[in-house]
Amino acid sequence: MTTHTEDSLVRVVLASNNPGKLREFSALFAPLGIELISQAELGVPEPEEPYVTFVENALTKARHASRITGLPALSDDSGLCVEALGGAPGVLSARYAQQPGGPKSDADNNELLVRNLEGVSDRRARYVAVLVLVRGENDPQPLIGEGVWHGEIIDTPRGSNGFGYDAHFYLPDRGHTAAELEPAEKNRVSHRARALAHLLDKLSTTV
Ligand code: IMP
Repeated sequence: MTTHTEDSLVRVVLASNNPGKLREFSALFAPLGIELISQAELGVPEPEEPYVTFVENALTKARHASRITGLPALSDDSGLCVEALGGAPGVLSARYAQQPGGPKSDADNNELLVRNLEGVSDRRARYVAVLVLVRGENDPQPLIGEGVWHGEIIDTPRGSNGFGYDAHFYLPDRGHTAAELEPAEKNRVSHRARALAHLLDKLSTTV
């Protein structure tokens, strides 16, 4: 993808309503001549995410935003996959313990995760992040970046940084949970950082 036009920035819609993600991704894409605009600013409603894979959901979000705005679009999808649970909670990570019509809760999700692993000795888990960039709605070759971060699920939470499952996501090589890492350190080594590096690598070598 050609990112620089003479003096102007290439405008790309970010298929997310999360202001934190807009800030974080904007800073990382600006040096490439890409200006990210939030989909909310362009009146794009959030689509359904009905699929069982991160890549399908991310692709759906990017296509949807591109269809409505006519711009290239960037999207992301992420979650936790636990080996002994067949990859669950997976794409349901944010709403693992949610009751129909009820609120989403990290505390409830973690409690359910620990309960579902009672008596299970295999604690291997991975965070997965997928980033998708489409040049247009019908782009036949979306750019896809994937990042994986391996760890183990522990029953007793440790640390207060991060969010989601971080306090139960233990990194054996560091002797810490993700919630015990400094935010800047997590941002350097996480699944999202790896997915972004992968995507930027593809972007730099794609016409
Ligand atoms: P999203 O892709 O940002 O919507 O994240 C989906 C869900 O996956 C979050 O609500 C969390 O439950 C989980 N998740 C994704 N990334 C992380 C992470 O870095 N730490 C903890 N939980 C995460």
